[in-house]
Amino acid sequence: MGTNMADSLITAEVDFGAEGAQTGFLRVPHSVHRSAYGWVPVPIVVLRNGEGPTVLFIAGNHGDEYEGQIALGKLVRETSAEDIRGRIIILTMANFPAAQAGLRTSPIDQGTLNRTFPGDARGTPTEMIAHYIEEVLMPITDYAIDLHSGGTSLYYPPTLLRGRGHTPQEAEKLKALQTAFDLPYAWVFTGGGGPTTTARTLMGAAGRKGVVSIMTEMGGGGTVTPEILHRAERGLHRTLHALGMLPGYRPDEVRGTRELTVRGSVYAYQAGLFEPYQDIGDAVAKDEIVGMIHHPDTPWQDADPVPSPFDGMVLCKRVLGQVERGDAVFQIAADAESR
Ligand SMILES: [Zn+2]
Repeated sequence: MGTNMADSLITAEVDFGAEGAQTGFLRVPHSVHRSAYGWVPVPIVVLRNGEGPTVLFIAGNHGDEYEGQIALGKLVRETSAEDIRGRIIILTMANFPAAQAGLRTSPIDQGTLNRTFPGDARGTPTEMIAHYIEEVLMPITDYAIDLHSGGTSLYYPPTLLRGRGHTPQEAEKLKALQTAFDLPYAWVFTGGGGPTTTARTLMGAAGRKGVVSIMTEMGGGGTVTPEILHRAERGLHRTLHALGMLPGYRPDEVRGTRELTVRGSVYAYQAGLFEPYQDIGDAVAKDEIVGMIHHPDTPWQDADPVPSPFDGMVLCKRVLGQVERGDAVFQIAADAESR
């Protein structure tokens, strides 16, 4: 890690080795017209108290996904270093320019952080942030938890995403994280991940560095709901407790998780206004018409039916009414083989 870490132009205002609570910024150098020597401030918090695992919490990977940003901020303000065992590293707005703008992508370089790993030490701000997370933070991390939502265009019920694990030990840890987070759904990947993955995602970065990682998709549609925010906060506390890092917390009873594998998305092939026939949790059959695309610019033209290519259940839906060819309107999942 030495050479790669030295390559990064990002400097941290926190000392990852120090005990106690530290707050500050990752300084991402960015020289622009109004600020020749300026830097982009990515907020970072480190809590450390003695021996124990290191957990890296990420939100604002996509800037228009808000539940994680709020939940992690509350965790920072409600938790003191003495409450924990081990080390917690928190990025509430990982792609800060995107999160500041409330956009999926950074307005500075159009970068989508979660499609940019392993990044580039000498690249754009988004590429530099990806490189820093993969080459500086992942090597000191045991567990990475990346909090997402459906963003502006999609909506998910509270769902945990994970791989099956590439060793029996990793599989056991992933299952334990799922049980601890205790969301209604888990999307269990059927492949990918591991040390040889070429995935451009934060999960890919974690896999390459041997870090056990999960993601969540909670809510979306550019808004925040009390129910989903509560699920996020409860999950964070329960997970830290399950890892032995929050001994004073008393978790409530497990509610249970339905494990799913994703079959694929249903796509629009015409531009227009989408009328959904289904909602999240509804069962759909292969070739069933799951909605219609209307053409109010030519109101005498018939609406176009949208068939589902898959059997299963609606896990995720598009929330924006307007569609173009290539937009996903639903994501269809099915019960995973229990394992
Ligand atoms: Zn996201």
